[in-house]
Order: sequence, then structure tokens, then C-alpha cells
Amino acid sequence: MAAVGALWGGGYDRGIVTAVTARVPAKVNLQLSVGPPGADGYHDLVTVFHALALFDEVTVTSADTDSVVVTGEGARSVPLGPDNLAARAVAALLDAVGPGVRDAPGLAIEIRKRIPVAAGLAGGSADAAGALVACNELWGAGLSHQELSEVAARVGSDVGFALLGGTAVGLGRGDRVTPALAAGTYHWVLAFADGQLPTPAVYAACDRLRARAAGPGSAGKPASGGRADTAEPPQLDTALMAALRSGDPAGLGPLLSNDLQPAAVSLLPRLRQTLAAGREFGALGGIVSGSGPTCAFLARDGAHARDLAVALAGAGVCRTVASVTGPAPGATVISVPADGRPGGLPGGSEAGRPVGRP
Ligand code: ATP
Repeated sequence: MAAVGALWGGGYDRGIVTAVTARVPAKVNLQLSVGPPGADGYHDLVTVFHALALFDEVTVTSADTDSVVVTGEGARSVPLGPDNLAARAVAALLDAVGPGVRDAPGLAIEIRKRIPVAAGLAGGSADAAGALVACNELWGAGLSHQELSEVAARVGSDVGFALLGGTAVGLGRGDRVTPALAAGTYHWVLAFADGQLPTPAVYAACDRLRARAAGPGSAGKPASGGRADTAEPPQLDTALMAALRSGDPAGLGPLLSNDLQPAAVSLLPRLRQTLAAGREFGALGGIVSGSGPTCAFLARDGAHARDLAVALAGAGVCRTVASVTGPAPGATVISVPADGRPGGLPGGSEAGRPVGRP
């Protein structure tokens, strides 16, 4: 365990690093436009990612053997073996840099979940991004953000955005990510549902709904929030991008859109009540987040978000609610306990350092 040296070109003395903790955000898609499935079954996307201040924490520790421990929200439905997305990210990183980078035979991965599982908030991808930045630090691998992004793209389509954070446009499978110009802070209320929705099932339902809407005798009427009846090539919503640049939540709210929403609602019809309640309680906009079933509601400001959260919780239209802000930073190292530096960096604060060399 002798990863000693100066990283980031800034003369930072790492000491002997034995464990590193990274903090990683959830995301909501402000726009999620889904094209027709390609020959490989994947859909071409145009999406606008927005990172939310709802964080998982991933700690990696040099150890004799590999292990994964998961605690917190939904921990019981997260795989603990090599299928865990954080473990897959570590394997992809080792593929990229070679096993010689390891400073011990094994790695203990500990994930503290606050992002609900299979909820459309990309929590698994977030954990993968957290594992990447934490191992990059633990092993002194020194990969740049760009290099980490290339590894991330091999792990999953949302992992690159979880590294980047903020607000960003995603193309392809969502893995080609470019930061977007966005002003201000937005206040959101997340309504967590009782069930989970597996992403592949939601895409399959979207294809079925579109086939039915395109079929003979169909009225072809889209359900609210997305285009159920069309599989036209998706386009970036320029009005939504302009609203983001102006930082005006009242302008942004009505422009939120998600083509997967009709499919998510068809699989979990009670989401219709959740979305209707958000509208009734004065949300500026409300959508199913990604493949669902979490619903995200935009509020005017912090006070409005608190009122909205209380009203939604009281209406019994969801399991629980959380009031969060966005955009949030991407995967960030928050704690590096090293010999001679007990406690490392201040944990859980904004004092984390950005990912990778510039
Ligand atoms: P997607 O990113 O596909 O939209 P999601 O946000 O709806 O997915 P996740 O919480 O990322 O959902 O979980 C998707 C699946 O990945 C779950 O079935 C879960 O068992 C599996 N999984 C693997 N590793 C993790 C992890 N570290 N955290 C959460 N889920 C994980």
C-alpha cells in the first residue's frame, strides 16, 4: 500500500493512501427523447442530464480479497458480486491501466446508498463513477477526466454523465456527453414510488406502445409527457436549452419531457396520480425521471419545494419524498485518509476535489 506521490500536478502529497471515498449524484433527464430501436436493439437518444444533490458514497479500501458491501436505501436489491456496477467499473479500470496498478491483492468496495435502486435516477451508474474516481486516487493511476470518461463509456451509458455532473446533453446511448450552459439553481421534489421499474422493460413497453399507436385503426394519441405514438429521430429541444441558459424555472417547467413516461405509466398506472398531484399542488413541471418510477417536480424556489414535498407526502401518492437541488457536481473525492493525515479531506462537504487531471 505504498501509493505515494504528487498527483494532479499540484504537488499534493498523498501520503500512504489506504482508503478513498467518493460522492456521486443522482440524475434526472430534463429531456429524454427516444428514437426507434437500432439493429442492436438499442435506441438512439437525445437527452439533457441534470445532476441532483442526492448522493451515494463509495469507499474503496486496499484489502487481501475483493468484496462489495452495500448499505442504505434499497441495499437488499443490489448485487454484491462482480455484477455490481461499481465492481464492473473497477474491472474496466484495471483492464485499461493494467493490474500492476493495484497495491494489494484485493479491493473492498463499500457503497452507502441514498439513491433508490432501479428508480430512474441512475444510482448504479453513479456508484460505477464513484468507484472509478476513488480507485484512480487510491492507486495513484493518474487518469485524466477524458481517460476516465472512456473507461466509463465501457461500463454503462449513464456513467460518463455521473463523472461529469452539472447539466449536460447526452447523445447516442446517452454516453456522448457535452456540458450544457445552464444558469442558476433549481429546486426539485422527488416522489419515490413503492415499486421498481427495470429499464429494459420500460424501453420494451415504449416500443409496444409506439407499434400499437402506429398500427391500423389507432387514434395514435400520445399520453402526456412523451411521444408515445412516434419514433421520429429525436432532436434537442432548443427552447428547453434557452430556458436553462436563462435560469428561469417557470420557463423550464412546462418544457420538461420524457418519451419513456407513457411506458412507465403503463407499467405502473398509479404514477398517473402522483403526476396529477404534483400539478395540482402547483409544481412548475413534473415528469417521470428516466425510466421511472421516481417522479421529479420542479418548484419555484426552496420554500415552494418544501411546501410541495409536504403536500405530496400528505397526499399518499408515493412512498416518500425528497427535496433536492440541481445541478450538483459529478463524482468527487471527498475523503482520503492517509497515514499522518487522519480524517483526510472534510467528508460530505463541498471540499471535494474535481476528478482527474485537467
Ligand atoms: P438506469 O441507469 O438503467 O436508468 P436506474 O437508475 O433505474 O437504471 P439503478 O439504480 O442504476 O436503476 O439500478 C439498475 C439495476 O442495476 C438494478 O437492477 C440493480 O440491481 C443493478 N445494480 C448493479 N449495481 C448496482 C449499484 N451499485 N447500485 C444500484 N443498482 C445496481
